[in-house]
Amino acid sequence: MSTSLDVAIRGGTLVTADRQWRADIGIRDGVIVSLGDHVAPAARELDATGRHVLPGGVDAHTHIDQVSSTGLHTADDFTSASRSAAAGGTTTVLAHVAQHRGQSLRTVTAEYAARAARDVIIDYAFHLIVSDPTPTVLEEELPALIAQGHRSLKLFMTYEKIRLTDAQLLAVMDVARTHGALPIVHAEHHEAIQWLTQRLLADGRTSPRWHAAARPEPVEREAVHRACMLAELVGVPLMVFHVSGMQALDEIRRARARGVTVYAETCPQYLAFTAEDLAHDGFEIAKLMFSPAPRDASAQTALWSALADGTLDVFSSDHAPYRFADVAGKQAFGTDAPFHRIPNGVPGLAVRLPFLISEGVHGGRLTLERAVAVGCEAPARRYGLFPQKGTIALGSDADLAIWDLDREVVCTHALMHDRMDYTPYEGRVLRGWPSMTLSRGEVVYADGTPQGVPGRGRWLRR
Ligand SMILES: [Zn+2]
Repeated sequence: MSTSLDVAIRGGTLVTADRQWRADIGIRDGVIVSLGDHVAPAARELDATGRHVLPGGVDAHTHIDQVSSTGLHTADDFTSASRSAAAGGTTTVLAHVAQHRGQSLRTVTAEYAARAARDVIIDYAFHLIVSDPTPTVLEEELPALIAQGHRSLKLFMTYEKIRLTDAQLLAVMDVARTHGALPIVHAEHHEAIQWLTQRLLADGRTSPRWHAAARPEPVEREAVHRACMLAELVGVPLMVFHVSGMQALDEIRRARARGVTVYAETCPQYLAFTAEDLAHDGFEIAKLMFSPAPRDASAQTALWSALADGTLDVFSSDHAPYRFADVAGKQAFGTDAPFHRIPNGVPGLAVRLPFLISEGVHGGRLTLERAVAVGCEAPARRYGLFPQKGTIALGSDADLAIWDLDREVVCTHALMHDRMDYTPYEGRVLRGWPSMTLSRGEVVYADGTPQGVPGRGRWLRR
């Protein structure tokens, strides 16, 4: 090992969840080894004068190279997802191993890990979707996988083919408690959604505009409450994914007030869109279909406040890429498919942090430090990756993004560098975009172009 630096980043303002300060960064062997006024000369000198240097983003909720419960494959593999993430200043992704019923969780994890290792450019870890908690899965596979370093389990309370009953939720949560994993829920009341859906369909209300009406806030509120109660009984911490509005926030606050350890995330789409945006006829609305559904302006105000006050810990993309003009995507069941058959999900890997900085920081709703907290540090902490990821500190991985916080960008799909054929943010003006992204000291995005060799990313044992 040489003692000189591989990379030096000079002249920037560094930002963490706690503070901003002027310092140079010295990097050796992929790790931050010096921080200060004048670090030593390096093989590669990077000028960040007038720029802000943020920790690489940690996107803790993504669907990459994954088969959904409807049998469709997401548009992005780990190569395109890595490029898209890097283009938006994100250097770590957590993606989902998807067990479908009848499958061995151990086998699907091994297969998925092989594909990820082959394709990935940035560093990554997995949540394990448990849809079939057989005695073998509960007693043998899960304990072994958790011990290997897969320390978060994704549990669905809706979607017919992957949802768990309450008894199954309890059983999996108990394994998580015993072996040291974090259960995560997609919280919506399945049978209430089914009942509302059938009623809408019977009334001839079949177009995508009825998606939000079939999944109103009470179905989410009840499921958040139930998940918190189940975790309370088991005595295990809980993460609630994609909180969409006030009612779910109220349940999270209530659970915390009685001593339950519950964490929660929201995603840009809940702050960018409302149910009004879906209130149009035509299939185009499928581009904005995701679950839980978007709410209204007051929900958005509540979510921003919750991000600021700590009710929400984590800001993730829930990148779930299904192309629009594609029979393997949104049009899998035709352009006149009833709303409940259209694949759910929107892309957001690249736009997540630019949106957070533009709408949150420039919008006066969050400090820059708080944006770094919810976009980088807190997700690293919640999922056992801190301080290797999520901050700028001696000994941390040199996962960094150099940001031009005042650059105005008109969002187009071309900026996202994913394999989608649209972005829901087309035409939006965002202020702030990274000019360069580094993963363990290697440039993975510069001046509009993703770089890096597939296979260079590392799986993160947790
Ligand atoms: Zn998701």
